[in-house]
Amino acid sequence: MDDFKKGTKIKLTNGDFVTVKSKIGEGGQGCVYKVDYNGKDYAMKWYLHRYLRSLKSVDKFYNNLASNIASGSPSQKFLWMKAVATTGKHSKGFGYVMDLRPDNYAEFTKFVKAKEFFANTSAVINAAINIVEAFMCLHRKGYSYQDLSPGNFFIDKNTGDVLICDNDNVAPNNKNLGVSGTPGYIAPEVLLGQARPSASTDLFSLSVILFELFFLSHPLNGAKCCKYPCLTPKVEKELYAQNPVFVCSKTDTSNAPVRGTCSNLINLWPTYPTYLHDAFQDAFSNTALKNGINRLTERDWTKVLYKLQDDVVVCKNCGEANFASMIKDGKTRCMSCKKTIASPVSIVGDRFEIVAGKGKILSEYHLSFGDKTKSVALFVESKKTAGVFGLKNESDYVWEVTYPDNTVRNYNKGEVVTLVPDTTIVFGNNKIVVKN
Ligand SMILES: [Zn+2]
Repeated sequence: MDDFKKGTKIKLTNGDFVTVKSKIGEGGQGCVYKVDYNGKDYAMKWYLHRYLRSLKSVDKFYNNLASNIASGSPSQKFLWMKAVATTGKHSKGFGYVMDLRPDNYAEFTKFVKAKEFFANTSAVINAAINIVEAFMCLHRKGYSYQDLSPGNFFIDKNTGDVLICDNDNVAPNNKNLGVSGTPGYIAPEVLLGQARPSASTDLFSLSVILFELFFLSHPLNGAKCCKYPCLTPKVEKELYAQNPVFVCSKTDTSNAPVRGTCSNLINLWPTYPTYLHDAFQDAFSNTALKNGINRLTERDWTKVLYKLQDDVVVCKNCGEANFASMIKDGKTRCMSCKKTIASPVSIVGDRFEIVAGKGKILSEYHLSFGDKTKSVALFVESKKTAGVFGLKNESDYVWEVTYPDNTVRNYNKGEVVTLVPDTTIVFGNNKIVVKN
């Protein structure tokens, strides 16, 4: 039974049941239905018999699914399975129930194909951070995803919020249920049959997804790819496994971007700071590509992406995010509307520099690698003068603030220090300097 009519009741192994409302999708693995579960709408994926027959072991696949449901979602960013659905014995067919994907999320492939567009670069950075943080949670829980591709990610174009789907191949690290991944996204050693998907090979896939997110093009598709009229499995093996070359490699230009076909990359690469370029150079270095060592971890990526977020200066004219570290001689042109952006003030500590911006925070992460969401100080913009910022004390410390004329004043929790260059703020073991 591969097709259910409206009104069909299907048992869940937790003792409840769902009622089919409509069919909402069909793919190579199964059909997706909208179902009623205790008066609320959910999605139910039901596996096709031919897909289950193609698996090495249906029992192992079923047990892994049940075990993933029992241990719960690694993070809210995963559209995790909630309950197993069966029509009796699982050998006769089964599926699982999950939350419905809200309408404001679009498949990442649509962004790559220019059918959806991010509202601004801040949303792109947020999406990258959300994806990396989600995989950090997944890997910390001892899982590997095994088959990352752009089809697994759904993104809100305005906020960069992310939902990760198709979590049924997720398995404990170094356990594999037969899935081998998608060429171009799976690590070279897996495509060559030398290794099985794991948390380490996920890191390669993660870097590919991040590159596509920022540059809307694939990191291994350059001049070498353009030589072939179509990507046969043999060509994919050559490009993505046997002799992969990073399109932006500084040492090997054999796969450099081609004008016309690689326009996204050629246009977008110069709009980001050097430290993001360097991260991708490391992620797709020869050793990372060919030997699978020194791959960037989620922690490496968060350092770079949080820095990028702190570096953002929003254009007053069009609202697009630019980067303060790219401003030369005190001013630059907005990468979107081309109007002049003046160098903004920033606060600088031992391990961070945060450019002033509405709603930005100094968090416990900046001070001591603590919680990124726990605010110690909040940037607030002057209501009288746009572009003039203050810093609101949200910590439990009294701040000792020394102004450039050496006057000193204390600021309690809730009070706001106007950010004048060369002012210093001292609290606990922290010393922060305001710079321009
Ligand atoms: Zn602008």
